[in-house]
Amino acid sequence: MLNRAVSGKPCLGNRFMHVPGHSNSALSVLAAGSKKRVEDKIKSGVYKYVPQECFCGSDEEMLLSETDSYGIYYPLVVCKKCGIIRADPRLSGDSYVDFYSNEYRTLYGDDDIDKNELFNIRLKQADEVYGFISSAVKLPREGVVFDIGCNMGTMLLPFHKAGFETFGVDYGTSYIEYGRSKTGLDLEAGGIEKLRGRKKADLVILNHVFEHFADLGKELNDIRGVTNPGCYIYVALPGTFWWIRNICNGDPLGMFQNAHTWQFSLRSLRYVMECNGFEFVSGNEEVKAIFRKKETAIRERGDVPAGEFDKVLKYLKKASRRSYYKNIAARILKAPLRKLMKRGA
Ligand SMILES: [Zn+2]
Repeated sequence: MLNRAVSGKPCLGNRFMHVPGHSNSALSVLAAGSKKRVEDKIKSGVYKYVPQECFCGSDEEMLLSETDSYGIYYPLVVCKKCGIIRADPRLSGDSYVDFYSNEYRTLYGDDDIDKNELFNIRLKQADEVYGFISSAVKLPREGVVFDIGCNMGTMLLPFHKAGFETFGVDYGTSYIEYGRSKTGLDLEAGGIEKLRGRKKADLVILNHVFEHFADLGKELNDIRGVTNPGCYIYVALPGTFWWIRNICNGDPLGMFQNAHTWQFSLRSLRYVMECNGFEFVSGNEEVKAIFRKKETAIRERGDVPAGEFDKVLKYLKKASRRSYYKNIAARILKAPLRKLMKRGA
């Protein structure tokens, strides 16, 4: 049963409604197979949905969309109090475990790319992240670096080469095994629990991981438990404004992924981090940001980012309208061109 707490139509328009079996974007054969399996598991009740309360505690929300970019059921709401976007209801814990173990990488196209090629792409990204972090903060010499959701461990390589002690965890077993054999790094299948009992970290990398967490407060508290005082946290995630404009060709639908429990701007991310005792150091709207662990929380949950809800809603509505008319214009322009090509053939 899809027990959505919010009723009514998605406020971004009819194309954000969920139509069973419909696909919003072109998929590879492997990804389409995974989408079908996910949809079957939802339909048969293997995947269950549970309510997801907003981080700020408010239950005032507005339904944005019922579908993700692939056409999978994904009820997405924006909180009227703090402006954070979230899936409500979201998949249950057990459903996520199955999804991440069996479907996630295939659905999002990683299995369509040769692992060696993927490794090299990720290596380039790792050098950029290393440059971003080392130009912003000074880490202790030979300090400890953790990567949570490390994929093949590539993000840790530049730190390892620079003399840091590194350790990575990820639920994707085959990627961990591949990364271990390719890099020789200390990588383990699992989550934050595998970091307990090790030396505490001076830097934690959360590269496109934070938006997948279910309980933000709990996860950040767990991270506090495995880190040294003053530890830096690097968080990269798809920032709402920047991502839609620069990655999704202006269309909000392109950004919606059923694997994302949360969706942030730099401002709303900063709010969550500060409430959990992580001070903002530097960052951008992409989002790539660095925070520093403080002794206690530096913000109350009630101190929400003022005006964020209005800003987010206005931006999303404008972007979805523009994108709707852009698609219509493209179809009108393409029709005579197709006719001409047919005549020429
Ligand atoms: Zn909220």
